[in-house]
Amino acid sequence: MGFFMSARFIFITGGVVSSLGKGVSVASIGTLLQNKGFKIKLRKLDPYLNVDPGTLNPYEHGEVFITKDGGETDLDLGHYERFTNISTSKYDNTTSGRIYSSVIHAERCGEYLGKTVQVIPHITDAIKNFILRDADNYDFVISEIGGTIGDIESLPFLEAIRQLKNDLGQEMVLNIHLTLLPYIESAGEMKTKPTQNSIKSLLSIGIQADMILCRTVKHMTDDIRTKISHFCNVSKNRIFEAIDTNLIYKIPVLFKNQKLDDEILKFFQITEKYDNDLKDLRAFVDKFENLGDDEISIGIFGKYIDLQDSYKSLHEALRNTGIAMNKRVNIISFNTEDFDEEQFKNIAGVVIPGGFGARGVEGKIQAIKFAREHDIPCLGICFGMQLMLIEFARNVLGFNDANSTEIDPATSYPVINLLSMTKDASELGGSMRLGDMICNIKKDTKLFDIYKESSVYERFRHRYGFDKRYISDFENQGVVFSGFDDSNVVEAIELSNKKWFIGVQYHPEFNSTPLSPSPLFKSFLSAITNR
Ligand code: GLN
Repeated sequence: MGFFMSARFIFITGGVVSSLGKGVSVASIGTLLQNKGFKIKLRKLDPYLNVDPGTLNPYEHGEVFITKDGGETDLDLGHYERFTNISTSKYDNTTSGRIYSSVIHAERCGEYLGKTVQVIPHITDAIKNFILRDADNYDFVISEIGGTIGDIESLPFLEAIRQLKNDLGQEMVLNIHLTLLPYIESAGEMKTKPTQNSIKSLLSIGIQADMILCRTVKHMTDDIRTKISHFCNVSKNRIFEAIDTNLIYKIPVLFKNQKLDDEILKFFQITEKYDNDLKDLRAFVDKFENLGDDEISIGIFGKYIDLQDSYKSLHEALRNTGIAMNKRVNIISFNTEDFDEEQFKNIAGVVIPGGFGARGVEGKIQAIKFAREHDIPCLGICFGMQLMLIEFARNVLGFNDANSTEIDPATSYPVINLLSMTKDASELGGSMRLGDMICNIKKDTKLFDIYKESSVYERFRHRYGFDKRYISDFENQGVVFSGFDDSNVVEAIELSNKKWFIGVQYHPEFNSTPLSPSPLFKSFLSAITNR
């Protein structure tokens, strides 16, 4: 390749173990550079062979994050958006599966002119193209390499970033390695050996880390820093601590206190445009530190409750909106496979999240019935809205076996049915109604009071929707259809005789950030506190 680019490139790799918070580190570094006036782009490369995470069970890989432009992407893109308030795109996440499938497709089209198609250079070129896409529009492109050093899967990614340092110039590419410093309680010591080994493995494939971020439970001593510096060939001022915190939004502040941002600029020999001192983020962190003891307890009735990450954006949206409103939100997750009215004892609001498939559905419907009959604030998201309508059909309209055709194709009342636009999809992957769509909001509805706008854009991910044949049956019994797209797909519903009972076909959690929380969550939390 060999070319000139004005953008600087930062790569973040992870060592020792997974789940050290690479995504949050990328988001934090992006935030720091944005704070100094630079235009940033954050990207993620995932080593697995699925073309995107859209077909993955949330138990496998956590939530699927939906971008504005309809990408089904890794949940780290959610961190990128929540930290920086910049929308990501489907072009900001790729996987080995997507890279290989594009190369194999090109081979079948004869684009390689008879050449042998190989990992190097063909796969690595495709990876580099992903990283470099539109790079000229940014000051910094920060890319997260999924997986852990030592994995077979991520080798082509590492080879590609190794080459890029040569292609673009040593001074244009910064390699940051995030590692773990385990603390051995019985010895009272922090250990550097795993870090040394990880840095060596990286070096054995030709990448010298330029900076090291050390995940720790305690502060690092100067001795530890010196030791890492000696063994890893990185100067002490380029070794930083990433200590455990009780709020991820403190991490940019903690990095800034160590002058990580200045060190990055020194590496690239560029000067900041200005420095806002993370003003807004600090204000948010202060609010968090000053929350009172009063809690709002909200029950999420779902099926993927054992893995927190399955509803990542929803948890973040509820908690962060709470903090922005000076309220502490406590989330209790219930598995609806064993629904029990007792579960309502300690909660003041109910969320029925998005979902797929039959498991746990009947429990969710019982939870909705209980919330409706006891006038407990209830928010249904996507599948949650669909189930609100099914519950209403069965228990108010007397449509005894009403259902979604996703759950029961033979139901006599298919109140939720395949949408016309998703009906003919031949593949499951990428074939839902995805991304930002308009929601036209009816006047004189709660939803209009909430948004105070006659149309908004929200993010969608669904294949099924309300079957409008039944609209008057529902309206006659008090269901208000408050939001529609331009072709009349039902996008929001509410019950006018309840305090707060709203279902939305979209996912407001993907559009909610700490500094700009969704009006829907704000209204939901207010309704609970006013109760
Ligand atoms: N399974 C439902 C559908 O496809 C809801 C999807 C969701 O909740 N994201 O329409």
